[in-house]
Amino acid sequence: MHKARLWKSLKDGALQCRLCSHFCMIEPGGRGKCGVRINRGGELFTLTYDRAAAINIDPVEKKPLYHFLPGSRTFSFGTMGCNLGCSFCQNYSLSQPPREGSPVQGHPVDPEHLVEAAIEGGCRSISYTYSEPTVFFELMQDTARLAKQNGLANIMVSNGFMSPECLEELAPLIDAANIDLKAFTPEFYERVCDARLEPVKKNLARMRELGWWIEVTTLVIPGLNDDLEELEAMAAFIVGELGPETPWHLSRFHPDYKLQDRPPTPVATLEKAWVIGRRAGLQFVYVGNLPGNAHNSTVCPGCGRTAIERAGFTALGGTLEDGKCSACGAELAGRFDGQ
Ligand code: SF4
Repeated sequence: MHKARLWKSLKDGALQCRLCSHFCMIEPGGRGKCGVRINRGGELFTLTYDRAAAINIDPVEKKPLYHFLPGSRTFSFGTMGCNLGCSFCQNYSLSQPPREGSPVQGHPVDPEHLVEAAIEGGCRSISYTYSEPTVFFELMQDTARLAKQNGLANIMVSNGFMSPECLEELAPLIDAANIDLKAFTPEFYERVCDARLEPVKKNLARMRELGWWIEVTTLVIPGLNDDLEELEAMAAFIVGELGPETPWHLSRFHPDYKLQDRPPTPVATLEKAWVIGRRAGLQFVYVGNLPGNAHNSTVCPGCGRTAIERAGFTALGGTLEDGKCSACGAELAGRFDGQ
């Protein structure tokens, strides 16, 4: 067990975890909602510091990040645990067991070896991903510091429900993030995810202020968050608060975990959502989890040519050169680093 950061003592050995927007009050011997932070003798410990449950080298497109070092490899890892309890979770075998009282399992890791493996694997970045990186904050923070010293970028793939303190600690370390905006009603976040919408909205706006490169993902679920007015409100929020250049990934739902009572998202719904995003003024709207869909490539906002062509998660080519469209000279939003 490793001492946790971001908590404060309360009376009689109790404490408050300040890592995410749940701000759990934890009695001696108890765990927070995520199940991976435990109060031992009036001090908070993390159970995720030294064990990763999934490690891979992925194309950065798989995060998904389509405008951040496209075509590069990202060293990706995650531990068990999550602070949310989404009934549709597509990674529930990693994220949910600690919330349900099961032990936290994984392979022994430490920041030095993770960074070393990223460099050896020819990666440009490290991605904190697969489950929710907020709940392995201490491991992420130490690894991200070392990664930066070694010239690697840091990417967070997150539900965005961290506390403001956590976000400020990460501010100088993270370069890019893909953040889930799971729906646009407080009711959805409370009932389906055991969380709240407002902190996610505030954190997204703050990440933009901090200069992180942000892409947003929404899993469109039939009957739960596919109301067209709700999608319009979400698109307007992204345009207004994060900017029209923010990529929006509309991802197809497949029945998973506890949400087995509805079909995969109809293609027509995803197409309508795509139109809503574009009409709202978003320059880059993508449809994901739907192989072969035309809205997977990046179209130059200047001339309409294909700036980055993709097949699945593979960037194949296009008119992008040095971050600009070679056909019309328009600059594309993102971090292309001479690509
Ligand atoms: S990370 Fe969030 S869910 Fe976990 S103990 Fe802290 S406040 Fe609670």
